[in-house]
Amino acid sequence: MAMDPRHAILFEPVRIGPVTAPNRFYQTPHATGFGWQRPQSGAALRGIKAEGGWGVVCTEYCSIHPTSDDSPHAFLTLWDDDDIAPLAATADAIHTHGALAGIELWHGGAHASNRMTRLPTLAPQVQPALFHLPTTARAMDLADIRAFRGWQRDAARRAKQAGFDIVYVYAGHDYLPFQYLSRRSNTRGDAYGGSLENRARLLREMLEDTREAVGDTCAVAIRLAVDELHGPDGVCAEAEGREVVEMLADLPDLWDVNIAGALGNDSKSARFSGEGFQEDYIRFVKGLTSKPVVSVGRFTSPDRMVEQIRKGVQDFIGAARPSIADPFLPAKIRAGRADEIRECIGCNICRAANNEAVPLRCTQNPTMGEEWRRGWHPERIAAYPRRETALVVGAGPAGLEAALTLARRGLEVTLAEASRQLGGRVSRESTLPGLATWARVRDWRLTMLGKLPNVQIYRESRMAADDIADLAPDHVVLATGSHWRRDGVGVVEMQPRQFPRALTPDDIFAGAEIIGPVVIHDDEHYFMGGALAEKLARAGHPVTLVTPYPQVSGWTVLTDEQGFIQERLMGLGVTILPQHSVTEQGATHARATCLTTGQARDIACGALILVTGRLPDDRLWQALQTRPNTVRLGDCLTPSSIADAVYSAHRFARLLGEPDRPPRRERPAHEGI
Ligand code: ADP
Ligand code: SF4
Repeated sequence: MAMDPRHAILFEPVRIGPVTAPNRFYQTPHATGFGWQRPQSGAALRGIKAEGGWGVVCTEYCSIHPTSDDSPHAFLTLWDDDDIAPLAATADAIHTHGALAGIELWHGGAHASNRMTRLPTLAPQVQPALFHLPTTARAMDLADIRAFRGWQRDAARRAKQAGFDIVYVYAGHDYLPFQYLSRRSNTRGDAYGGSLENRARLLREMLEDTREAVGDTCAVAIRLAVDELHGPDGVCAEAEGREVVEMLADLPDLWDVNIAGALGNDSKSARFSGEGFQEDYIRFVKGLTSKPVVSVGRFTSPDRMVEQIRKGVQDFIGAARPSIADPFLPAKIRAGRADEIRECIGCNICRAANNEAVPLRCTQNPTMGEEWRRGWHPERIAAYPRRETALVVGAGPAGLEAALTLARRGLEVTLAEASRQLGGRVSRESTLPGLATWARVRDWRLTMLGKLPNVQIYRESRMAADDIADLAPDHVVLATGSHWRRDGVGVVEMQPRQFPRALTPDDIFAGAEIIGPVVIHDDEHYFMGGALAEKLARAGHPVTLVTPYPQVSGWTVLTDEQGFIQERLMGLGVTILPQHSVTEQGATHARATCLTTGQARDIACGALILVTGRLPDDRLWQALQTRPNTVRLGDCLTPSSIADAVYSAHRFARLLGEPDRPPRRERPAHEGI
């Protein structure tokens, strides 16, 4: 197929200082969980992005000095010359496919915990170090600032030696240069504090120093948060954010702009932001500089991308998450296969991986992070050596992924689903407020399955053990899902209890009638409890959310959503009762007991909803487990996230007939061993 001519503009080359990007697809810096400890994994991941057509591919944050150590999170380092060779592997992998390699030089200032290096934390002023209490950061003196400028210059030179084409000055996400910029974190009385010009001095010097060090062959990019979402108290797009761009207008070769302070604002989940959500903040930038501008906004629609360019919002299409969900997004647009883009659903499971300090994972793309350690490619898969048949039972995320991956390998696949609706849990969960994009997990797989001749899909076909015996397929995959528990057993409350009239999320999706005030007992701590509270509060019910955790939807701290969920529920008038469990259900009340004091209180309750553990729907498995070539996958094996269900299915289908080896690990070379 040929590219839609309307999309041709996306494939125009763009000059960035001394280098030229082959097209407008720009993978902005994003974390991978690999960092300096896993250079081969990082190189393979970035290489795949370049192979998929991204014209610029950047690294994650790369520390310029041991005073900027984010352990235990994975970050790159350019602290000495020994760091050059491992990073050169990444630049080479990117260059192999004709893309430009960018590197995000980083100093965290008051954000750097220095847990590994154990050096004092640096900041513009004396202040509590951020997020790693009880440390206090010390104020940098003028000698420190001179040294700091030298670290940036040295790191830039090493980056150039490693082969990078674009070198960043990073003043986003509340890191050190931004701490100087914002009067919220800079109360200095010297030439680096006070007026905006003084607060921007370090940034200007860093741009000049970096250009002097490497600007002959490398482009110098600035990553700037133009709004830290604190109104006029901080850097904001209407005032100081704009003034900084005016001051530095043509000094960098490229502006990479976003909103800060914390990363969560820049990579908001789909529940709290739509495609292009940063546009209102950053659109002024292009009017103030002649240099190219890039920003992000979870862009997955090529028409929307074209609009960004035509409207003059940005010159590139910046993307982190869309490039994680589909590293081949540009190649698909170029080949006229935009319908095959595996669109990011905005769930932020990738952010959770970063916050948990583990390798990157993605709900939509099970190969992300597996490029080196398992050798998985998002678009290529080995053909299965024999003409065999597979029956997949259940068309939730696991069943759809298993069917698709087995069919891609050439097996004759039958997919049988009990209900009329395909998609299993995502078809239900995507009806919750803000979660409509989650249906993309289903829709992308159905699109791809529809293109394969070797797949038959049967709806309204509940399978029993006898049906499977009659069909006699070579392989049976049970992806029959799970259901919510009714006995109150959750993460904290392990003792089963009797709640004779309690409802579960399954009942709500099945249309159970809700009468009177609602009490939700959330001992799961992910999105479901908070999302049901939002749905029912919007429907006009008084809602109390009881949770044994100190916070509502506690696990979503890791997806950077917790604060937004709490804000939304409080805005809707939901009563939040933390550190309590519902221990009893009466005729008109639910009893909540404090975990600390044991004191009980009764809450008016017409409908009690238990969001606790889930149990596998494994009846078929119990009947068939001795049958050869029969497996259970996804929630039917271990009820978990959608990402885990997809991964479980992909792994099985990819490894069918292959030896199941442990993932490769990057082992440091030990002297003398
Ligand atoms: P997962 O996340 O593991 O994919 P889901 O709960 O989303 O799990 O999907 C399981 C799907 O399996 C549901 O759509 C359900 O209707 C279907 N299912 C369960 N039992 C059977 C069965 N015996 N025959 C066919 N489909 C089934
Ligand atoms: Fe998008 Fe979710 Fe994948 Fe992150 S994990 S890239 S938000 S689909």
